[in-house]
Amino acid sequence: MSECIFCKIIARAIPATIVRETDDILAFRDVNPQAPQHILIVPKRHIEKLADLDDSDAALMGRMLIEISKLAHELDMETQGYRLVLNNGSDAGQSVWHIHAHLMSGRPFRWPPG
Ligand code: 5GP
Ligand code: ZN
Repeated sequence: MSECIFCKIIARAIPATIVRETDDILAFRDVNPQAPQHILIVPKRHIEKLADLDDSDAALMGRMLIEISKLAHELDMETQGYRLVLNNGSDAGQSVWHIHAHLMSGRPFRWPPG
């Protein structure tokens, strides 16, 4: 079993509140939410970070964005708005080395981000 915490969630080896699943994508609630709604969306395949993607990942990443859009619709985020964040590397705040997007909604977000 991989030591990766998100691979363990994907394998159901540790619990998470899963809100959407397709053949190659999983979405679950962040354990330490930074907004009233805070969802993490991951590809099921272990990819460490955005910088590791190549052209062969185009369809997967495209599907991931479309699933995020559908999820935001289902969770009634569209009227109020939502923010999508993808941290790449330690200075950006990446702490889990399995590529993931943060989908957050339910409060105003400042710009520029901290
Ligand atoms: P990063 O800092 O890498 O962009 O985001 C990692 C996110 O994963 C953090 O928001 C953190 O709260 C979340 N996280 C870390 N461990 C777990 C876990 O075991 N379960 C869930 N659901 N979220 C986690
Ligand atoms: Zn992983």
